[in-house]
Parts: sequence; structure tokens; C-alpha cells
Amino acid sequence: MKSILLIEDDPFLSNIYVIKLEEAGFNVNALLSGKEALKEIEEKRPDLILLDIVLPDISGWEILEQIKKNPEIKSKIMILSNLGQKEDKEKGLKMGADYYLIKAYYTPTELVEEIKKII
Ligand SMILES: [Mg+2]
Repeated sequence: MKSILLIEDDPFLSNIYVIKLEEAGFNVNALLSGKEALKEIEEKRPDLILLDIVLPDISGWEILEQIKKNPEIKSKIMILSNLGQKEDKEKGLKMGADYYLIKAYYTPTELVEEIKKII
């Protein structure tokens, strides 16, 4: 079973994503803040990390930067943000994210379809 770590601080949205992803057969772990994320990633090495950028403690940018410092972490990274500027997307991909999706453009079902293509 493929594993996904979801880092999303909106509990309502997080719940919907978790339900949809579990229905699709993924093993999902969801965190509502960035603080625990690095330890979790280090220990569990999920197949895919869904990463929000605007978080209450450390930002998704900072988490991405930390992940990329460890070449042993092979998890794919999908930024899932409502920061929709071209510069944001370019920054995310340049920093090493594999994908950058704008949350508002995808229904949870469509998001699951995108994820199925990746892992
Ligand atoms: Mg957020």
C-alpha cells in the first residue's frame, strides 16, 4: 500500500482529502502543522508528501528546504497550495518539489486522480 503524508492546516480540507485518499486505497497520515512533519518524514519515508505552504508554525518552504537537505529521502513531493503566482510555482519546483498544484483548481476527487498517476 502506498503511503502519503498530508501536511495541511485546514482541518476541514484535511479530513476530506484523507477520506478520499483512503477510499482510493492509500495509507494516509495527516498533520495539521509543520512542526512534526520533519520527524515524521525522516522516520516513515512516505511515498508521497502533500505539502501546504501557509502553515501556522513553520512554512511549507522551510519544510521543503529541510527535506531536500537529506538526499536519502526519496519521497515525492507535491506542493498543494493556494499561492497561485507563477513565481511561487517556479520557486517550489526550483527548490525541488516534484509537482505544484493549486488547491482551488482541483476537487478532492480530481486530486486523487492526479495522485494515482504519480504513485
Ligand atoms: Mg494552509
